[in-house]
Amino acid sequence: MLAASSVEIRKVNKHFGPFHALKDVDLVIEPGKVNCLIGPSGSGKSTLLRCINFLEEYDSGEIRIDGQLIGYEAPGKKMSGRRLREMRRSIGMVFQQFNLWPHMTARENVAEGLIRVRGMSKSEAHERAAEALTKVGLADRMTNHPARLSGGQQQRVAIARAIAMEPRLMLFDEPTSALDPELVGEVLNVMKTLAGEGMTMVVVTHEMGFAAHVADKVAFMEKGELVSVDIPDRILHHPEDARIQSFLRTYH
Ligand code: ADP
Ligand code: MG
Repeated sequence: MLAASSVEIRKVNKHFGPFHALKDVDLVIEPGKVNCLIGPSGSGKSTLLRCINFLEEYDSGEIRIDGQLIGYEAPGKKMSGRRLREMRRSIGMVFQQFNLWPHMTARENVAEGLIRVRGMSKSEAHERAAEALTKVGLADRMTNHPARLSGGQQQRVAIARAIAMEPRLMLFDEPTSALDPELVGEVLNVMKTLAGEGMTMVVVTHEMGFAAHVADKVAFMEKGELVSVDIPDRILHHPEDARIQSFLRTYH
């Protein structure tokens, strides 16, 4: 079992200029739980996810990882870059676009961060990279360059790259949205395995099947508001809120 983080989001607000992108968002994510974040395009899902590792600065409210405020030492006082990097070490992120280095093999892609950020020796990093790639089912693709991998395989390399750093929290922003439909399942399966190992996960997704079967909680966002968070069955199959009903109708 991996050590897993908790995340507490309290009354978080975020503006882009005059635009109010996150409105008093509250969300508590317990250690080892999978939270899916759903909602229409432009509702603030990516912004919220990016606030969790402070890739996006929130204006007010608090986000705590394992009780530690991220981004700020105190309200309005930003933490040092060094402290922020330290906190981010325990957080992995996987994007819609895989962002692999095209000139490196799968194994080199995974090893790079271990060498640069963790200061591991090349041989140690390559050993760790091989383990991570084996875990995502790519033991036989270690020496392939990204161009010689399918989209699903590339995204699994990106996941291997994140888990090789031994995160306690994984953030996924529409990890399967750029994939051909037949490749979605292999990526979701890897995520399911991670979830089964007790990783804390926050997953922005349009894969309602994944949300229904793997999530402990599903949160629905609209227009910067976190409208509702509940067990998947209540959000996805018996939603009371008209906004959720209307959103889900677009999937049928
Ligand atoms: P989602 O991921 O739910 O589709 P986003 O979090 O990406 O939504 O965006 C929420 C809203 O914030 C959108 O209206 C978007 O246009 C706006 N937004 C996001 N990032 C920026 C930015 N850097 N500058 C200005 N507006 C932004
Ligand atoms: Mg988004």
